[in-house]
Amino acid sequence: MKKHNFYAGPSILPAYTIENTAKGILDLDGIGLSVMEISHRSKEFMAIMEEAQSLISELLEVPQGYHILFLGGGASMQFCMVPYNLMQKKAAYLNTGSWASKALKEAALFGKAIEVASSKDRNFSYIPKGYELPADADYFHITTNNTIYGTEIREDLDVPMTLVADMSSDIFSRPMDVSKYGIIYGGAQKNLAPSGLAVIIIREDILGQVDRPIPTILDYRIHIKNGSMFNTPPVVPIFSALQTLRWLKDKGGIGAMEKINVEKAALLYDEIDRNPMFKCTVEDEADRSLMNICFLMTDEYQELEADFLAFASGRGMVGIKGHRSVGGFRASTYNALARESVVALIDTMKEFEKK
Ligand code: PMP
Repeated sequence: MKKHNFYAGPSILPAYTIENTAKGILDLDGIGLSVMEISHRSKEFMAIMEEAQSLISELLEVPQGYHILFLGGGASMQFCMVPYNLMQKKAAYLNTGSWASKALKEAALFGKAIEVASSKDRNFSYIPKGYELPADADYFHITTNNTIYGTEIREDLDVPMTLVADMSSDIFSRPMDVSKYGIIYGGAQKNLAPSGLAVIIIREDILGQVDRPIPTILDYRIHIKNGSMFNTPPVVPIFSALQTLRWLKDKGGIGAMEKINVEKAALLYDEIDRNPMFKCTVEDEADRSLMNICFLMTDEYQELEADFLAFASGRGMVGIKGHRSVGGFRASTYNALARESVVALIDTMKEFEKK
């Protein structure tokens, strides 16, 4: 039976990425060695790193003055590195979910971390609007896509200070204006590569303004100076990332990807809104994520939740159980998920309704 992979992360990657990673692990481009067993300073790996960085620049149209880093520690490491490197006294955070809360908690270790708004009052089912930013904040941190709750900020905000964005679960899903951000970071395990790796796009001129000493390994300037090779980088995830980036380019780039993502999400949201057995957890359409689509059984059919999960699993749907803090279901529709998988889930919902 064909499996339709809706996991939230680690999650579906293009078959191209998995096949080429497997090949490179066995024998990198016919050199008779695995990508895992060559020096990160070898000409072969240097070429992999350079191509991966330049493809990110090309695909996201990264302006001059920015650097692209591949660091270990996942996105969570960035919760600490961002305030360590940027917070002099005060930073503003938008609290849109558990990951945003974790970033905020970490920042509070370094100074005054101000929660400018929160959607916790309604279990993070919307994106707060109309909040005020403290003019003296060193930066403003947002989480553009809230993986657990299915909300997304899909525009590039204009703010009068450095904007820092955790884009773990929507990076590469839509074209964006990188110049609006001081730092964009994300764990690789949704739209790019195996977990453990973080991608960071950083504007160099925001660095060097804090007084505190920064441990070498946590100092962005050190990683920039060393071309993301200060220490041994996670070579296999970077090699995988390169495959996904080549795949993205071949598919027509991020604009083409966005079109498909919009279409996939619209199909599924339409079915959730139409089918009397289901309801979306995010009411305001403008806040609905294109990447993680969260839905519940309507009150009338609540007791059928486990039945639906079993029914869907019998039809090859994998990873659609909602996160424990929301319940219900979550279908993650990352770049690599084909339209046919979304259609298969919709057919499953329709069949269940009939049954
Ligand atoms: N931010 C967001 C939005 C996430 O979805 C996740 C992981 N699901 C993280 C941060 C944490 O990433 P990591 O596990 O790579 O540290």
